[in-house]
Amino acid sequence: MKTLCEKYARKLVKQGLTAPGDPIVGGLDAELVWNRQDQRIKELAILFDELSINSLIFSKPAEPFATIIDFLASRYPDTIRPEDTETRTFLHDIPVCREFSAQAIVANLKKRKAVIIPGNGIISYGTVTPEQGFVFYSSTIFACFVLFFSEYMKEAKTGTIDTEFQAAFDKAVSHLPAPRTDLPTLATGPHNDEEIILSAMAEAGKAVVEYGLVDSFFGNISYRLGKIIYISQTGSSLEELQGCIDPCPMDGSSTAGLTASSELTAHEDVYRRTPVDCILHGHPKFTVIMSMDCDRTDCKNRGKCHVACTECRSIEGVPIVPGEVGTGPTGLCNTLPPAVASCGTAIVHGHGLFASGVTDFNEPFKRLLETENLCRKLYFERLSRLID
Ligand SMILES: [Zn+2]
Repeated sequence: MKTLCEKYARKLVKQGLTAPGDPIVGGLDAELVWNRQDQRIKELAILFDELSINSLIFSKPAEPFATIIDFLASRYPDTIRPEDTETRTFLHDIPVCREFSAQAIVANLKKRKAVIIPGNGIISYGTVTPEQGFVFYSSTIFACFVLFFSEYMKEAKTGTIDTEFQAAFDKAVSHLPAPRTDLPTLATGPHNDEEIILSAMAEAGKAVVEYGLVDSFFGNISYRLGKIIYISQTGSSLEELQGCIDPCPMDGSSTAGLTASSELTAHEDVYRRTPVDCILHGHPKFTVIMSMDCDRTDCKNRGKCHVACTECRSIEGVPIVPGEVGTGPTGLCNTLPPAVASCGTAIVHGHGLFASGVTDFNEPFKRLLETENLCRKLYFERLSRLID
């Protein structure tokens, strides 16, 4: 367990979510162990008595995230309500706890998977493995980042940005890493052999996480060989795909579909409609922010844009479609495939980007990165037009 705690502490730092040396990760096996010593552990240990958890993560986020969560917590004193898909799927909303005391933290974590303690950081937990806490931690950061930049754009449009928001925004922007424009060299296809496909998928998944185009755990990836779709399993970490890829025959004859990504149906439909060989799906932040940036305020589905938007919106030729995770009547399995089939790439509102390619993952990766860089550029261009 101690090794696992250390692994997730390292992962938080490696993905730029927290500063080196900061994360405190605790895990309960026969006894309670921590990745490192800290005087706050005495209080945190009480959480294991009060909640049915087996692991806990507590850390102050790295910049720009610390500035972002503290600003949002000052603006929304009780709870922060982002509107992206990760929040809808996992978090619902993010409570803010004003004091660092076990009692106050327990009250919040009884209802939600993560809590923000302004000035201190984020606490999240797992009931089975520390990975769950890691996922909720990174999801909280993702959701707050998207909300922060979306709100700033909204207020820029109405001319209502106050000095606190401006200061927090300037600080956050100064900490944004420069956009990456270099491309990875991924295995060149066509891939005609299962072993090669699996290693090409693992390599591409790792690159998507390394470039910050998705947080670990989310996103999915597939490759089609004949009538078989190789797809990442649901809940797998894209940078650790070995052993987490299912071969699924397109005639639906395999039961592997049970563990396969929840987006298998959408991937399969894309392959039926168009002769592409592979699909990459990530949650790039500015793509998600721009997908929700809409000037319409009067349409009848306002408030349900993520499932019911009927506008034909796009960003420089890349269509934006509504659609929930999964295969329900408003599922992205209905909206996404025609869009990807006709344009090669499509954005799901508030969720992320799907990019297809022929032969190998170099093409969809390029589309993923270029769309994100374009969305980031458009975001700041739009802002400068509003503010000048
Ligand atoms: Zn997704």
